[in-house]
Amino acid sequence: MTPISANLQAVLARIDAAARRFGRDPASISLLAVSKTWPADAVREAAAAGQRAFGENYVQETVEKIDALGPLALEWHFIGPLQSNKTRPVAEHVDWVHSVERLKIAERLSQQRPAHLPPLNVCLQVNVSGEVSKSGCTPEEAPALARQIAALPNLRLRGLMGIPEPLDDFEAQRQPFRQLREIYERLRNEGLVLDTLSMGMSHDIEAAIAEGATMVRVGTAIFGDRKKT
Ligand SMILES: *Cc1c(COP(=O)(O)O)cnc(C)c1O
Repeated sequence: MTPISANLQAVLARIDAAARRFGRDPASISLLAVSKTWPADAVREAAAAGQRAFGENYVQETVEKIDALGPLALEWHFIGPLQSNKTRPVAEHVDWVHSVERLKIAERLSQQRPAHLPPLNVCLQVNVSGEVSKSGCTPEEAPALARQIAALPNLRLRGLMGIPEPLDDFEAQRQPFRQLREIYERLRNEGLVLDTLSMGMSHDIEAAIAEGATMVRVGTAIFGDRKKT
């Protein structure tokens, strides 16, 4: 086994164990492999080990990797900060965007989504770490924004995404994930058809699964430590 395939198996085993521990079906949690900063060959290796969905943070790197790996028919998720002047290449290349935090970005993605592609799957990013993070809409803004995004023609709002600040204590890790889940449940109760709670990274997969994550986004635990830029 290559290191990447061994790491992948270990992460899948963590997901499985956490799901069982918290009384959830492991099949209800999918793994997004975050390949940002890693070369196309690392993605090839993970794909050869059975991984299909990959997450990227930087627009140019995303487009280059998709162009290089296109024939593998992988599923690509854009999860990084997105400026309005960079929406077009994203709308034209990826299957999902997790980092929608403003209506203007959503409108541009919808306008720029090519007609021959299926609707772009999106998550609304919500800031559940208060002052610590600048990314994401506020929990108060989320319900109205979610309804506006859900109404756009070429997008399909799938759910919510959050990136809490890194914490070591398990109960403390659960807190922001719980807050995100409560917003998600409220939106579903109000009639929005959502199926995705994108939360949990290498260091807090278990806490996210305890609070209902349906997709965890894992980079370091699969590909190794990223070089500091
Ligand atoms: C980098 C990144 C991840 C993966 O983080 P790891 O700690 O390497 O698992 C997940 N989500 C987002 C939004 C990221 O930017």
